[in-house]
Amino acid sequence: MDFDKIKSTLNEGNEYLIELVKKVNFENSFNKPIKGLKNFELFYPKAEKTTIGLKTRGKYSSDYPIGAIVHFTAGQFNKNRQSAIDTLTWAKQEGYTFMIIAYDGTVLQDTPLNEWGYHAGESNWNGLGSSVSNKLVGIEICNAGLLEKKGDKYYSWFNTEIPEDQVREIRINNDNQVKGYFHKYSEAQEEALIELLVWLKNNNPTNFNVDYILGHDEVSGPKGIGYSRKQDPGGSLSMTMTELRNLVKSKI
Ligand SMILES: [Zn+2]
Repeated sequence: MDFDKIKSTLNEGNEYLIELVKKVNFENSFNKPIKGLKNFELFYPKAEKTTIGLKTRGKYSSDYPIGAIVHFTAGQFNKNRQSAIDTLTWAKQEGYTFMIIAYDGTVLQDTPLNEWGYHAGESNWNGLGSSVSNKLVGIEICNAGLLEKKGDKYYSWFNTEIPEDQVREIRINNDNQVKGYFHKYSEAQEEALIELLVWLKNNNPTNFNVDYILGHDEVSGPKGIGYSRKQDPGGSLSMTMTELRNLVKSKI
């Protein structure tokens, strides 16, 4: 490029520049998509990438999840990062695939975003049909899940006592949240979840639909909307799933 010539023509209107732009070889410019990949990231830049080898079942039909399912692990709850790694190791044995958010808010990702794996089991949702696992990415959150109150103490199903300040009581059924005692997601986990969901949308706005950010409890009923089989996220999340979708919409 002859920059002196460009400078000398700047005052003559844009035509020279328009012609110049046509000649620039954008194939070599910095924003060229990487060949062989779509123009979106396959790994969340903030995620800790693991190499556990979770099993995927194929590619999403649009090469990207069209939404997400929010879960809790209800596993042997531990605040350590290792607890998330252990869950992924368990998932590999069981044939499940998902992203996971540790108690400290760290997101762990083992498989690329264009490949789907099982995480939701029998499921159904209006507009998605049954078996949502091959359409929506699973996001597990390390959490003890639904609790049982015995006396004035709270216990997970595997009988670990959960301190009262980590318990949320849902007193009346509201949206996807049903009555009961739930282990609260940590603040770091909720922040990480919202940030991840906003990123999933912004990373591929064409394919990802915020209305398809669903709770496992929303899709696990026999006819789609029902609260029969799964309770996650329920009252572990500080808001209903409708409120979460609206919050994500307000941030994109
Ligand atoms: Zn679940």
